[in-house]
Order: sequence, then structure tokens, then C-alpha cells
Amino acid sequence: MISKFYQKSRQERINLLTERGFVTAEAGKLFIENPLLSETIADNMIENQISQFPLPLGVALNFLVDGKDVVVPMVVEEPSVIAASSNGAKLARPLGGFKTEIKERCMIGQLIFKDLVDVEEAKRVVQEKEAEIIEIANLAYPSIVKRGGGVQRVETRVIENETGEAEFLTIHLIIDVQEAMGANMINTILEATASSIKEWIHGEILMQILSNYGDASLVTAMCEVDPKQLTTADYDGQWIAERIVEATRYAHLDPYRAATHNKGIMNGIDSVVLASGNDFRAIEAGAHAYASRNGRYEAMSYWCINEAGNLAGELTLPMPVGIVGGAISVLPLAKVNQQLMQIQYATELASIIVSVGLAQNFSALKALVSEGIQKGHMSLQIKSLAIHAGAKESEIDEVVAKLKQEKTQNLATAQQILDKIRN
Ligand code: NDP
Repeated sequence: MISKFYQKSRQERINLLTERGFVTAEAGKLFIENPLLSETIADNMIENQISQFPLPLGVALNFLVDGKDVVVPMVVEEPSVIAASSNGAKLARPLGGFKTEIKERCMIGQLIFKDLVDVEEAKRVVQEKEAEIIEIANLAYPSIVKRGGGVQRVETRVIENETGEAEFLTIHLIIDVQEAMGANMINTILEATASSIKEWIHGEILMQILSNYGDASLVTAMCEVDPKQLTTADYDGQWIAERIVEATRYAHLDPYRAATHNKGIMNGIDSVVLASGNDFRAIEAGAHAYASRNGRYEAMSYWCINEAGNLAGELTLPMPVGIVGGAISVLPLAKVNQQLMQIQYATELASIIVSVGLAQNFSALKALVSEGIQKGHMSLQIKSLAIHAGAKESEIDEVVAKLKQEKTQNLATAQQILDKIRN
């Protein structure tokens, strides 16, 4: 456990992480120098590059994931996200922190065929030729097979059109992409496989691309909290725990609430995904698709009071993140952040990310069913208000202190306070 981290200066925080062995002195220096990307990297990563757009990188503390202490890097523009994650992780620690389960880590490549004479017959042919398809696919990307991955199996789906007629045959190649996210390698494999299948089934290929609905890479994070720990001067812990369960049940019934419930989860998830150099749009798309798997958009997490009387939370999401390839191999801080989390495998990163999502959800629900979210949120938002009002470094603390005493804590009040200080 690291305590009072937030009271230290930036240099002291980095020194502490270095002393505790979370990062090397060299990596610590990179944090301090806070480098922008080199012009070569920035100009070659995207098109029409004109500048860079820095966001703050912070760390969430107190995380115990599968028995290991983790300092979690988070890139986020919203105040209170990192504090909420750290708080949720702290409360989950006494009963073992977060435990995770990963049954499979594969990506799905889709080959979509149209204009088939007989869709069911085409499906039968593909099923019969599964071994041949796997062989052709693996020959297209031998390096991943050498690393222990490659195509694991072939699945077929007949897709009906608007009038209920079987129209498309979609073939899924379920691919073990090892430590990469795998989008590019999957697309290479699909292109190489499409032409042979086309000849066998006499159909037209509509497209071939990976699916971001990554339900072959589901990760479950679980935690337990003793309700007594939730008791404060104003609230009874058992009462809060029961209300968290009820609030989650409600979020499974109402998509309007589910969207906000899930936004809180994604606050945590996106921040770590970004810090790891992974593609956050891919993770967002997969998460929301999975939240709709029962035919209606639902809450992503579950909370109950278990047999031991503890509040128990569970979050399952597709988490096909990588630790090599794509932007990860190009962004210098993405590699340092891997070092910070002390991870060696993509599965470890995925477990940490889903655990952060659950911690974030727990903190948000705890606040919402008791004192409301604004109290905690605003106390952290006040600094942003002071800066927005134009306060200089030397004025921020005074504006924040005075704004905290005001009933209405908004931009206009911050500006009035700043004017008074200056006059
Ligand atoms: P890359 O194209 O960079 O492929 C991964 C690279 O990592 C390969 O060159 C591979 O080498 C190398 N590698 C080294 N060690 C390993 C290992 N242990 N396991 C696996 N690979 C290893 O990246 P991805 O294929 O992962 O694609 C990710 C990118 O694709 C992201 O930037 C994403 O934004 C983008 N993308 C996303 C799409 C989507 O989500 N719909 C669509 C298209 C692109 P080798 O080749 O020698 O095997």
C-alpha cells in the first residue's frame, strides 16, 4: 500500500515509484521530462498531423489483482476518475482485491459471403473443410503460428435478411493472436483465406475484417467487500450495500440508466486502455456490443450480497488488448506504463483493465446511492474551475480554498473570487 501519494509533489511521486521498484530510474526520468512524441513518430502515426494534444497521465493505487500489487497508469481528462478507482480498490483489498478469470483469448475474423445459391449447402461445405481452411489461414501468417498462436477453429453463421430469408454466410476464424491486439494480422489472414473459400462455395465476398465484438476474449473480474467497511458517520454500510445491489438491478432494467452505469465503468477502462497505447474505440465498441447481448442494452456489472453476507461484484467484458504491435510499439510512454504495471502478458493487462472498471463502478455506485456524486466530484472539479477562471499557478490554491466555502461552486463564482483576490 502507498499512502498519501496525492499529497506529494510530482517528483516525489516518481521517486517513490522508482524506489519501490515499479519503474526504473530511466523510465522515471521519461515521466519527468514529459516528452512529446518526436516529430518523426507523430507525423508518421496519423495523416495531416499539425500538432500534439497532451492529456494528463496519473496512477491509480491500492490495486491488488490476482494477488499482485499493481500501480495502474491512467490517461484521462476528467477529475475524480483516478481517485474513485483508487478508493474502490482500497475497499476491495481486505477481502483479497480483484480476482480475474480468462477462459480464452482469441480474436474473431469475419468473412462475409453474399449471392450464394444455397446458403445451407455453402455452410455445410465450409464446416467440412474446416481443417483445410485452418491450414491455408495459418500459412498466410506463419510467424504467429511459430509464436504458439494461429487459427483455432472455424465457425459459421447464416445471417437472415429483413424478411427472414437466409441471405449471407458469415465465416468466423477464431484466431489466437498471442500478445498482439491482432487487427492487422487477422485482416492479412482473412484476405489470404477468402479466395479459396469463394471457389468452394461459389459466392461473392462482401468483406473481410475482424469483429470488434470480441466475445472470444472475455475477461471476468470479481471482488468482495464487507458491508461494515462502507459505514460512515452519516450512513450504515449494510444500507449502502443493499442500495448498490438495487441500483445495479435497476440498471439492468432501464437502458437510460444502463448507459450511465456503463459510462462510469468505461471511465476506468478507457483511461487504462489509453495509457497502454491500445485502441480504445475497439474496446468501447466491443464492450457496448457485449452489453446488448440479451437483445437489450443492459448494465455491464452485477452486484449481490453473497452467502457470506459480503457485497460481491462481477464484471465481464471482451478485452482483446495487446502489449505489442500497433501504437503500443511506437509510443514511448506505453512501454513505460507496461513496466509500471509489471506485466509480461496481454492477459495480465486485460485482467487489470477489467478490475479497474469494476473498482470504478463500485465507487460511483457507492457515492450515487448515498451522498450523491456531486460532493466528491465537485471537490476535485474545483481545481479545474479555478484554472478555467484564469487563476495562475500562484493563485490556484487561494481560489480553490475560497470556492470550497461557497454554496454555488461554478465558473462565475470562481471568476468573482479571482477578481476579488486581484483587486
Ligand atoms: P501489428 O500490425 O503491429 O501486428 C502485431 C506485431 O507484433 C506483428 O508485427 C508481430 O510480429 C509483432 N509481435 C512481436 N511479438 C509478438 C507476440 N509475442 N505476439 C504477437 N505479435 C507479436 O498490430 P495488430 O495486428 O495487433 O493490430 C493492432 C492495430 O490495428 C491497432 O493499432 C488498431 O488500432 C488497428 N486496427 C484496428 C481495427 C479494428 O479494431 N477494427 C481495424 C484495423 C486496424 P510478426 O508480424 O513477426 O508476427
